[in-house]
Amino acid sequence: MCLFCQIVAREVPANVVYENEHVLAFKDVAPVAPCHVLVVPKKHVASVADAEAEDAMLLGHILLAGNHVARMLDVSASGYRLVFNNGRDGGQHVAHIHLHVLGGRPMRWPPG
Ligand code: AMP
Repeated sequence: MCLFCQIVAREVPANVVYENEHVLAFKDVAPVAPCHVLVVPKKHVASVADAEAEDAMLLGHILLAGNHVARMLDVSASGYRLVFNNGRDGGQHVAHIHLHVLGGRPMRWPPG
């Protein structure tokens, strides 16, 4: 089982901030912003590139949960960044879809 599936199964501890039928959201263990939460689907899908048409609703649930978490953690009004890293050059290190919710400081562009 992959690391994020183990977190979803509560076999690996995490600082969970939100959960619903489709997703789990927990604090990133190595935050790069004052607010850094990962939203993962409970279903294992390795990356955004691996998502199928049947996952369309699931992708929507992940984004809506990201918005919800941003409101919960009080970064919604000031603004926040939602990031899916995908594949090697995209900077993806864990092969289970995860949405980074980043906020609490101004974000730069272009990203590194
Ligand atoms: P990515 O590089 O986009 O694949 O993001 C993976 C993220 O998972 C990184 O920001 C890591 O800090 C984070 N991470 C790795 N292991 C854990 C863990 N056990 N609990 C919470 N976050 C983790």
